[in-house]
Amino acid sequence: MRKISLLGATGSIGTQTLDVIRMHKDKFQLVSMSVGRNIELAKQMIQEFSPTIVSVMHKEDAEGLQMEVPGNVRVYWGEEGLIQVALHPDADVVVTAVVGSVGLIPTLEAIRAKKTIAIANKETLVTAGHIVMEEARKHGVSLLPVDSEHSAIFQCLNGEENRSISRLIVTASGGSFRDKKREELRHVTVEDALNHPNWSMGAKITIDSATMMNKGLEVIEAHWLFGLPYERIDVLLHKESIIHSMVEFEDSSVIAQLGTPDMRVPIQYALTYPKRLEFLDEKRLNLWELGTLHFDKMDFERYRCLAFAYEAGKVGGTLPTVLNAANEVAVEAFLQRRVGFLQIEDLIEEAMEAHVVSKNPTLEEIQLVDGQTRKEVLTFIKQRGL
Ligand code: NDP
Ligand code: MG
Repeated sequence: MRKISLLGATGSIGTQTLDVIRMHKDKFQLVSMSVGRNIELAKQMIQEFSPTIVSVMHKEDAEGLQMEVPGNVRVYWGEEGLIQVALHPDADVVVTAVVGSVGLIPTLEAIRAKKTIAIANKETLVTAGHIVMEEARKHGVSLLPVDSEHSAIFQCLNGEENRSISRLIVTASGGSFRDKKREELRHVTVEDALNHPNWSMGAKITIDSATMMNKGLEVIEAHWLFGLPYERIDVLLHKESIIHSMVEFEDSSVIAQLGTPDMRVPIQYALTYPKRLEFLDEKRLNLWELGTLHFDKMDFERYRCLAFAYEAGKVGGTLPTVLNAANEVAVEAFLQRRVGFLQIEDLIEEAMEAHVVSKNPTLEEIQLVDGQTRKEVLTFIKQRGL
């Protein structure tokens, strides 16, 4: 029986993780979970899965919920609550499925407590990859990828640790606007952007997919998880999302991992690794039904956010923190209809240009830069009268 802590239970990855737990009740047990504002869903989850530590975003919600749950359940709130969830004494695996850099501190705490990490929250690795990887190494903790591309690469490498990799090929669907030209992007709406062709995901990552920032964050995530320089991480447009990523080895062989676009598969693999378990869903990949798969070269002028991410990754230091924080604020502003779609890129570029990079930052510096960047981008937005 694997005991699981779940950060971000009410989200897209969170609910799909619970689906996997539900499919294999004899193999997995949920011991703790966090939610943000969705208290109604949290109540149903507590009833179904009986976790003993729960956390919510706000204090008032925690106080209300504590009165309604069974006596053995402790309800916490805020960042301290996320840490309590991650540190549940019985938990073997912590699934990090909150969105944004709020995932960083609970992930670090879980690593220090020697919990295995099933990492979905890519912003954690983008903002502080060097610190997270160093702590994981120091404490002998595995970071198992949940993101489908990284799970694919991980599976392609499985048991092949000693073979030399020549490059990683991360596939990208192209997001909601892949058939639009750059000029056509100026007036797209939030609703258009939220309509992803292949995956159903949370709002922030769906926008990140449309701007291609998601792929940029994934390139940085891949750099940290697999230890390859950015020159050897490529992005390939593949609109069907059937090949989830590939690895090219030095003898020129390429190994790919394929599957239907269903996040429960990589989630389940992270929870059962190094074993596999039957996937209790009828859906299987039938390539003859698809007939053809398409591949295109990435266009860095069309998708400027991807170029920013490569630059931030290569320069390193505090620049990826700026990239991530600026993106979080800009996407939020777009979702609130305060800025247009193409202004997301402009705001990130402005924040990166204004930043003086500090090499090898401490955790405190990262948190400071994260906070400062958020304020700065909000100021840029106000200055433009938006
Ligand atoms: P969602 O927006 O669907 O879910 C986010 C979860 O985090 C919800 O449970 C939400 O709570 C909670 N949450 C949001 N803000 C806070 C906060 N400040 N404090 C505490 N909890 C908070 O996101 P996704 O599931 O789509 O994505 C989660 C992570 O996984 C992201 O980092 C994303 O990049 C990554 N990922 C997602 C994939 C997907 O298919 N969705 C694929 C690969 C990676 P509530 O809803 O209750 O307010
Ligand atoms: Mg992905």
